[in-house]
Amino acid sequence: MATQNIEELLRAQDDFLKSSAEASVTERIHKLKKLKATLKTQEQNIIEAVYKDFQKPEFEVLTTELFVVYKELNLFIKSIQKWSKPTSVSSDWLNFPSSDKIYHVPWGKVLIIAPWNYPFQLAITPLIGAIACGNTVVLKPSEHAPHTAEVLETIISNVFEESQAKVIQGDVEIAKRLLEQKWDYVFFTGSVPVGRIVSQQIAKHMTPHTLELGGKNPCIVDATANIDIAAKRIVWGKFLNAGQTCIAPDYLLIHDDVRAEFQDRLIATLKTFYVDKAFKDYTRLIHRAHFDRLTSMLNNERILYGGQSDSEENLLAPTLVDAPNFSSPLMQEEIFGPILPLYSYTNFDDLQATIEAFDKPLSLYVFTEDKAFSERVIQQFNFGGGVINDTIVHFVNDKLPFGGVGASGLGSYHGKASFDTFTRKKAMVHRKTWLDIPIKYPPYTRVNLFKFFLNLFR
Ligand code: NAD
Repeated sequence: MATQNIEELLRAQDDFLKSSAEASVTERIHKLKKLKATLKTQEQNIIEAVYKDFQKPEFEVLTTELFVVYKELNLFIKSIQKWSKPTSVSSDWLNFPSSDKIYHVPWGKVLIIAPWNYPFQLAITPLIGAIACGNTVVLKPSEHAPHTAEVLETIISNVFEESQAKVIQGDVEIAKRLLEQKWDYVFFTGSVPVGRIVSQQIAKHMTPHTLELGGKNPCIVDATANIDIAAKRIVWGKFLNAGQTCIAPDYLLIHDDVRAEFQDRLIATLKTFYVDKAFKDYTRLIHRAHFDRLTSMLNNERILYGGQSDSEENLLAPTLVDAPNFSSPLMQEEIFGPILPLYSYTNFDDLQATIEAFDKPLSLYVFTEDKAFSERVIQQFNFGGGVINDTIVHFVNDKLPFGGVGASGLGSYHGKASFDTFTRKKAMVHRKTWLDIPIKYPPYTRVNLFKFFLNLFR
């Protein structure tokens, strides 16, 4: 799309925002219901599109792309009327008499840039929040999942006028062109390096934004952990979507006492889930460049299990690697694929030395039956969110804000957190006129009286 057309579209979105009737909460609920009805009719197309993009099994599309989206839609349809009402807060006695309220107002024109790894869900979930809150949206899906991007465009153009929401497909060049415009809010999901570029680009307009990024998520297996359950839940969370999940465990830290037993369980579980089934329920890597990047990361590493690959299919088998050097490519960046490094540890100092060697992660997981230990881990390390005795499942609870910290992201969303992200809090004091205490007006004759008040605060 040419810059001129983008500018025209944004003028139309501005006009939409000015027409309050179009943007009323009732009208938005109507649109969310229409979106839900359209999703139902498009389900099969979504399943097929995601499969064409990277052979994601139908079950995973139903659970990780569709179910969470319906949940978010239902929640907003049910709650947006209530959440949108101005919130009364107690007034300050200095302003007596007054009544004070917080109005939850839309930001305006929102740009959403989405990644390819959950190409439907990560594009549509922020759109639901943004639209429900009264914003307009331009959504740029990832160019690396083109079939899903096509279905997204069909769905959005069926439900919304362009002046309310529009999908613009394209690559980095179109993303850059979009970022040159003046937005009221930018919601970016993607890699840390691109997140950095995005925040630099929008800094010139000082645009408020959310960055949903990635990082190296540690996963600790303590000596008290339930080994069988831990192995299953780690293999599931890591190798779902072939490890192409922002919150997948990036590396394991296993207590020395259980290392051998746990490693055996991991391998047995991998065989049962994927290898013995000829990788039937196993997503492929998104494209050849990603395949090449991941397979080359295995050069010079000690492979404990897996490592087989098929470039025709962009398939890399689940692979366990023994304690890569921190300076190796595997540990210099987020792995974002089906390779899992295993480290052993003996005490808390070892955990600290490893986890704190990297930027603050998006997620952290700890498998333990020792409550004091898990509390210490939560208090000690800084990370976006996490789970005790499972992986990635914090994502599904829409009552938990989802987001990173430091290099893993800025801001959060999902459920009420999405409402808070896509609205601005407008603070209003309504002063009454039946009383007007003159102390604040010049000439200042009541200095001593105010000093008396001040003493109450000193
Ligand atoms: P990416 O950063 O390469 O691309 C994301 C989006 O940004 C795409 O739409 C792409 O076209 C666009 N883009 C690329 N270069 C750009 C530029 N220079 N300027 C503006 N836009 C640009 O990420 P990806 O490869 O699609 O996704 C994988 C990454 O996303 C991983 O790092 C993963 O951890 C992260 N991720 C984070 C979350 C989260 O919720 N925190 C979820 C999924 C993925």
